[in-house]
Amino acid sequence: MTYAIPVPAITTVPVVGGDPFPVRRIYCVGRNYAAHAREMGHDPNREPPFFFMKPTDAIVPTDSEVPYPVKTNDYQHEIEMVVALGKGGRDIPVEKALELVFGYAVGLDMTRRDLQGEAKKLARPWDMGKGFDHSAPCAPLQPVSKVGHPDKGAIWLKVNGEVRQQGDLSDLIWNVAETISYLSGLVELFPGDLIYTGTPEGVGAVVKGDKLHGHVDGLVDLNVTIV
Ligand code: MN
Repeated sequence: MTYAIPVPAITTVPVVGGDPFPVRRIYCVGRNYAAHAREMGHDPNREPPFFFMKPTDAIVPTDSEVPYPVKTNDYQHEIEMVVALGKGGRDIPVEKALELVFGYAVGLDMTRRDLQGEAKKLARPWDMGKGFDHSAPCAPLQPVSKVGHPDKGAIWLKVNGEVRQQGDLSDLIWNVAETISYLSGLVELFPGDLIYTGTPEGVGAVVKGDKLHGHVDGLVDLNVTIV
């Protein structure tokens, strides 16, 4: 097969002790920790989860320099656990949902908060606030065979050594199985899909030179520098 233009590269995420994981789509859950929902001005009652997406090539590996994005003066961090799917399906029941999971990683849902805020105010899409270049740093994946299915444990982000975000996976409003199940009722899921599961409270702005260090108990830490 030949193509009209050079074929775009396949985005991959490294896997601890295995071959790289090819990324198909990136789904993100909004407001999935009660305290973060409150800090964004929302009542964290258990309304159904909602989703937005990032382009696959927004992935940035750990130990990278992340360029400060254009068109923003409020570039913010959101530390999140990332779920990687090794199997797909649609209308997956909650009790079967974890069977789809290949592994877990530490990720950052980097956000141009000013553009997102403007979009919210004008009832426009979030894409340019959320789905821009380099907006999805992701550490290497720990396969389920090594780490199981983390459902409790610390999740935190330090900026220049200082703790900015801190939470516990058990505080997720919609847990991983419920999130997969719900999402599979909206779209068919496939191997290679990633799900950023939402951020705990403490989101805030970063500037050039900041060093971000993200952690989830049992997973590989994520380190990036803003340049
Ligand atoms: Mn997020």
